[in-house]
Amino acid sequence: MRTQPPARSELEAIETASRDELTALQIVRLKQTLNHAYRQVRAYRKIFDEAGVHPDELEELSDLARFPFTAKDDLRKAYPFGMFAVPRTQLVRVHASSGTTGKPTVVGYTQGDIDTWTALMMRSIRAAGGRAGDIMHNAYGYGLFTGGLGLHYGAERLGCTTVPVSGGMTERQVQLIEDFKPDIIAATPSYMLAIGDEFERQGLDARETALRIGLHGAEPWTEAMREEIEERFDIDALNVYGLSEVLGPGIAAECIESKDGLTLWEDHFYPEIVDPGTGEVLPDGEIGELLLTTLTKEGLPMIRYRTRDLTRLLPPSARSMRRCARITGRSDDMMIIHGVNVFPTTIEALILEQEALSPHYVLELRKKNRLDDLTVVVEARPELWGSGEAAMSAKGQALQHHIKAMIGITTTVKVVPEGSVERSAGKAQRVIDLRE
Ligand code: ADP
Repeated sequence: MRTQPPARSELEAIETASRDELTALQIVRLKQTLNHAYRQVRAYRKIFDEAGVHPDELEELSDLARFPFTAKDDLRKAYPFGMFAVPRTQLVRVHASSGTTGKPTVVGYTQGDIDTWTALMMRSIRAAGGRAGDIMHNAYGYGLFTGGLGLHYGAERLGCTTVPVSGGMTERQVQLIEDFKPDIIAATPSYMLAIGDEFERQGLDARETALRIGLHGAEPWTEAMREEIEERFDIDALNVYGLSEVLGPGIAAECIESKDGLTLWEDHFYPEIVDPGTGEVLPDGEIGELLLTTLTKEGLPMIRYRTRDLTRLLPPSARSMRRCARITGRSDDMMIIHGVNVFPTTIEALILEQEALSPHYVLELRKKNRLDDLTVVVEARPELWGSGEAAMSAKGQALQHHIKAMIGITTTVKVVPEGSVERSAGKAQRVIDLRE
């Protein structure tokens, strides 16, 4: 660990509260939220009435399971402003999701919501080991995407000198890191690697910067990717999770002292895990789809929102709140190859077990004999490319065998030179769907 965890006295009281205190708070807030949604949002009133449930029926947290789900589609139907629970004039900001999976969805915040978000993002940066006086280089995109501004406000509130670089212009990112000597960097994990490549291209050692902490999220990444980033930059790389429909980044974050998954800020969100097929609530520890219910949102309360993110709930460790395990991926990122369910993160972990291969990859999906067929296009580590085409094709075959042995599917692996896989300044697109 290159950085000290916050002292207990620096934490908010709720971060170390007893489970009973937390539960009591959750029940009060959940009742308020259900009532607020039911009274103020026609769409909620309609789906609650259709399901034959009323907010007054909630007595215990587990009663929430009787309430209906909401999904991205409900927001789309209400596009742009139909789901808001306050008059539009009380919203001080809107954002929109990046539209990774279709038309963007619009979300809105009251001043109270912005304050909550700022406080949670501040809490998340502090959990990662950031403190007042640090310089934070923010390479998350600014704009409609919640990443840039979400981290920005939290860092300022913590007392960090915040550098709003946004994503892109990678040469300049390197220059600013060299000149301003930031302690913290925020970037998607894939963009962090692109910044690492740019250091190398400029003949600079990324391990020699002042950086101590990396805050990474907005896309699925693996433990192997964490090791890669930590090794290349000599930093602690921590996971941060969020989604715009529920708030933005800062819903859950990893704590530096434990680095064992995302502590979910349960005083503001109530999590459930359900079977993505049947919608049945699963016990803690089982993998399924994460549902989130907001407990304090004013502008856009979300009830049992289907995140489509697959994970499992873990017991509390560094804080009173439960954790969720690293997100495997979204249910809609899942590919079914020859009957086997495969996520990009599954392949990423196997790629990074091969010393000769870099973490820059894309997965091409095609139809072959009416079955989905997967080609893994992955860059060789630049220092190895020179060893010749035959050597490279042998590396590809080694990965092919490894994938077959570990997950039982036949793939084609193409090893390509450095720079062949497109770099993204934000969320990486891992799957290219070439099926008719
Ligand atoms: P969009 O749905 O358009 O991508 P967002 O920009 O709000 O909208 O992205 C939120 C999504 O990004 C999450 O639902 C999740 O799939 C992914 N995500 C965010 N943080 C992480 C993380 N730390 N690990 C894995 N996936 C993440």
